[in-house]
Amino acid sequence: MFRVSGAAIHSAQMTIRIYNTLAREKQALEPVTPGRVGMYVCGPTVYDYAHIGNARPVIVFDVLYRLLRREFGAGNVKYVRNITDVDDKIIAAADESGEEIASITARTTEAFQADMAALGALPPDEEPRATGHIPEMIALTEDLIAKGHAYEADGHVLFDVSSMADYGRLSRHSQDELIAGSRVEVAPYKRNPTDFVLWKPSTGAQPGWDSPWGFGRPGWHLECSAMSEKHLGINFDIHGGGQDLIFPHHENEIAQSICSHGAGTFAKYWMHNGHLQVEGGKMSKSLGDFIAVHDLLKAHHGETIRLAMLMTHYRRPINWTADGLAQAKSQLDGWYGALRAAGEGDADASSALVEALSDDLNTPLAISALHEAAGAVNKSGTTGGAGALQSGAGLLGLLQLDPDDWFKWQPEGTVGLADGDVDALIEERDAARAGRNFTRADEIRDRLAEAGILLEDGAQGTTWKRG
Ligand SMILES: [Zn+2]
Repeated sequence: MFRVSGAAIHSAQMTIRIYNTLAREKQALEPVTPGRVGMYVCGPTVYDYAHIGNARPVIVFDVLYRLLRREFGAGNVKYVRNITDVDDKIIAAADESGEEIASITARTTEAFQADMAALGALPPDEEPRATGHIPEMIALTEDLIAKGHAYEADGHVLFDVSSMADYGRLSRHSQDELIAGSRVEVAPYKRNPTDFVLWKPSTGAQPGWDSPWGFGRPGWHLECSAMSEKHLGINFDIHGGGQDLIFPHHENEIAQSICSHGAGTFAKYWMHNGHLQVEGGKMSKSLGDFIAVHDLLKAHHGETIRLAMLMTHYRRPINWTADGLAQAKSQLDGWYGALRAAGEGDADASSALVEALSDDLNTPLAISALHEAAGAVNKSGTTGGAGALQSGAGLLGLLQLDPDDWFKWQPEGTVGLADGDVDALIEERDAARAGRNFTRADEIRDRLAEAGILLEDGAQGTTWKRG
């Protein structure tokens, strides 16, 4: 019933400005290849359900993806988000549960994809798996050894950090600071404490592949350098992830890729989303506030979770609260109510909303533009306003449902009337009213109210929602 048709009719391309962590300032997005954009975002390590902190980069970069597709055309944007399916955390999970690694990674990948789809995130254009790119990782490691940036020691291959003069330029840590701050792991086979693993030996049941350095597996940082190169080339535009990945993960990706391909290669813009706290504290499994998206989706619609996330600007820390979710739910009720009253329209998103998103993804400002659009719809009741509201919300991945479906949605485990029963009772009530049997009509209304169903009698008949 509701379609976003406005996206096709927008006029001139708007300059998108994004905060580049590498430069510590907002910069205009000027793609390496004019008119085309490549974006790589670090994806999940698949050993457990995604928690709400994992969902933040997925939602944030999905909004950017939607904006880029609007501005450059869907066919000119390539979004790559990897799946890390070989990692020590996965091995530990298998050891603990006795479940086969292949089963853990397949099951968890599927759950991740389903959860992110329920949050309204579009699938990326490519979703490469680390285990599908082992030859590329071995080739990159061989190249780094040949160029004097890596060495073999004790079955391991390590990146020689001292071989890169400007190592640390993303995180702006000097090597001395890193050692003093104990942010690096000391190991006997390392020449320097800051050196990091490209390849390590596998024993027993650990997953591994034959390599010039024996049976082993890749380090995590190497995976992203190899997969981004394979799918986006040695020069691409945007690399994203959470702030916690700046060091060591992204710093080491830069070291590997630039030392292999030369200065000026790899990602041009680095974008990082802020941390997530739950009710004012750091989320941790041991404190029992580890919120799996899978569980959250049973109690809240994906759009509610998504809006609650986007109410905070992506670079700021977010405090995840029950209040925030309730606020998001009531805002969506208001917007869907406006859409339901006004009917379908096909106007484009407001320029205020597009400008807000184009300014380093200012989602709080974009949300106020949606409030204004909804206010205009409520005032005028025109379909044009509804189109602008819906098209603008579409850029945020919101208002993607038919309003009737939104109001019928209920949390899992709710005991109540099925949709069909409600419709049948409303029909019976209509018939009673038509026959001027108002006592019966009121009985039905009361029975529905007891079941939490609210009726709204309007010009086009009776609509209902779950209260
Ligand atoms: Zn990565």
